Amino acid sequence: MIRKTIHDILASYDKNDLTIATVCSHSSLQIFHGAKQEGFRTLGIVVGEQRRRFYDAFPLGKPDEFLMVENYKEILTLTKELQDQNTIVIPHGSFVEYLGPDMFMTLQLPTFGNRDVLMWESDRDKERIWLEGAGLTMPYEVKNPKDIHNPVIVKYHGAKGGKGFFIAKTYAEFKKRIQSDKPYTIQEFVMGTRYYLHYFYSPIQQNAYKLSKGSLQMLSMDRRDETTIDEVQRLGSIAELEEIGIHPTFVVTGNIPIVMRESLLPKVFQMGEQVVEKSLSLFGGIIGSFCLETVVTENLEFKVFEISARIVAGTNPYITGSPYSDFIMPNLSTGRRIAQEIHYASQHDQLEEILS
Ligand code: ATP
Repeated sequence: MIRKTIHDILASYDKNDLTIATVCSHSSLQIFHGAKQEGFRTLGIVVGEQRRRFYDAFPLGKPDEFLMVENYKEILTLTKELQDQNTIVIPHGSFVEYLGPDMFMTLQLPTFGNRDVLMWESDRDKERIWLEGAGLTMPYEVKNPKDIHNPVIVKYHGAKGGKGFFIAKTYAEFKKRIQSDKPYTIQEFVMGTRYYLHYFYSPIQQNAYKLSKGSLQMLSMDRRDETTIDEVQRLGSIAELEEIGIHPTFVVTGNIPIVMRESLLPKVFQMGEQVVEKSLSLFGGIIGSFCLETVVTENLEFKVFEISARIVAGTNPYITGSPYSDFIMPNLSTGRRIAQEIHYASQHDQLEEILS
């Protein structure tokens, strides 16, 4: 149903006069900057004057225009106005969160990527079917808390940014901390180093790592800075702190650029390929940017604990390119890559293959 609506909306668009829009948060500076580099008009959807103001300090990342709204749900009532400006929306994590997945799914504006992916990434069981079905290794799940014999991480469903997650090493520790009124998953706590891998899949271009359809790029990678876990050792060992009731948390506050030993790159591409190929058969493909969140163990094995199916904020350190995208072209951010894809698709009459 929504596909037909988007088809009709796109048919009415002047493809030579497109506007790239997103919500002013998350990776919006990068998205606007990249869209401007590729010659698009840009529009920022913003709640509150204070949030709008700081863009004045970053002229190259400031959208050409702002659309002020009282709350994000108001976007749903403004779609006609946005359609009149031939608007294409670039969803990012905060965009989907602020609007809510149900409203996002019905948004009557062409959005970059395949919206059907949302059902597969937001449900932890479906996500596992997808990623394990693709041949990736995920941390094992503990179904019965009494079977906790090694460190685990307990994740509440729908808790964004690691909020409320905790580590337990025994059933007793689990029982002490769990809020059992909330749905949760218990997962192996993987020891190793974290790498968040930023891919870009184009179903319509053949200029990168070739897949059965289209091609794959890996534009950059980061490590998240998470409070308090990443600095907790400044005060003492985790065990010492837990004894006095201070528990580490996993709330993301920033992103750190990182480069991986080169011998691991073939595996990185293989994992990206498997994820895309499986997505093509499950729901028509994960299009554009996505991120595999991984831990590399001491045996140099990747364990993938999550997928994000759109631009992640971990790409923000790379506005002028990364040590990987520099081998594709200079000054290539993920935001710019998205704009390039839209530009290419509009020139080749293929917008429907990358928007939904
Ligand atoms: P987001 O949606 O923002 O990615 P989230 O709320 O879904 O976050 P996760 O990304 O699953 O949460 O986990 C938050 C953090 O917890 C990770 O960035 C990582 O540091 C840590 N973490 C998650 N799973 C594991 C694991 N299995 N082993 C070790 N650390 C983990």
